[in-house]
Amino acid sequence: MSSPVDERISDELEALKAILMDDFVVKKTEDGPDSIEYVVHPSTGDDVDQQFVCVTLEVRLVSGYPDVSPEVLLRNPRGLDDKVLKSIHTQIDKKLQDNLGQPVVYEVIELIRENLTRSNLPSGQCVICLFDFVEGDVFIKTQCYHYFHSYCLACHLKAGKNWYQDAVDRLPSWQQADTPKHQTCPVCRCRLDLDFETLKSAPPPVDSINAPPFRLTAELKALQKKMAEILARQKAKGGVVGMGDNGPPPLTITSPSDNDGGSTSQDADKADALARAAAAEAAPGSPKAAPVYRGPYRGFNRRGKPGGRRGRGAPAGSR
Ligand SMILES: [Zn+2]
Ligand SMILES: [Zn+2]
Repeated sequence: MSSPVDERISDELEALKAILMDDFVVKKTEDGPDSIEYVVHPSTGDDVDQQFVCVTLEVRLVSGYPDVSPEVLLRNPRGLDDKVLKSIHTQIDKKLQDNLGQPVVYEVIELIRENLTRSNLPSGQCVICLFDFVEGDVFIKTQCYHYFHSYCLACHLKAGKNWYQDAVDRLPSWQQADTPKHQTCPVCRCRLDLDFETLKSAPPPVDSINAPPFRLTAELKALQKKMAEILARQKAKGGVVGMGDNGPPPLTITSPSDNDGGSTSQDADKADALARAAAAEAAPGSPKAAPVYRGPYRGFNRRGKPGGRRGRGAPAGSR
């Protein structure tokens, strides 16, 4: 026979299942309390495209619930800053206190949903222009739940494409063919499949229009100087500017002399190994027989023809 407390909980779970259906998950644990998980979105009817914020609610049904308040956690917030989250937490605490002794999960979900609907505009800044999102801004939510002014993302993608294409053009053709060409999110590098023309037609951020004109202050000048020194030091040391995650590292500077050769660190490593092999093959006792051997990769760069494996031609996906 189940106790009255058990019945209150099982009735609540049944009701939640009926209302929330498949999106609602009950997690059973061996030693800890069962917990309920639900991703809360703002109310926008069925228009998923208009949901710009969300948060995962986890309610741990601690021993003694509902006579004891459950543990409530908010995880994976998207488009919500700490201030909004803190305010939601405060409201939840009050709700839990007011509802001691009765099932409260649905009330908590509704409370969060109301808050999300009110702040269904990503809070915080656009990481590209650093202006806030305000009423009247045209912005976009990417598949990875990151937010940008549409205008800013268009500018970023355009600049990124030119810069990237430039770097790809300097690669030997056999590497060009294997280099990924898709657009990526500036925050998490997830693949983006967006219509550039639509983004481009958006107006600039509202705050940028009203912002005072840019002034190069003494503080900024000092910062520029500091950064220039760091960059110079990095270049002198053969600093790494960028690494390819899987494919070839298209933007790696290995030494100042490599800057104009289009060579990569991998090439340099291979070239060094080859140089050592060439030295070993040379007659022993003849130090002159070990020249600084930098090929054949450099030769590939100049000829752009790695043994006829692939022709040069425009790389696929280029403009
Ligand atoms: Zn922006
Ligand atoms: Zn992202």
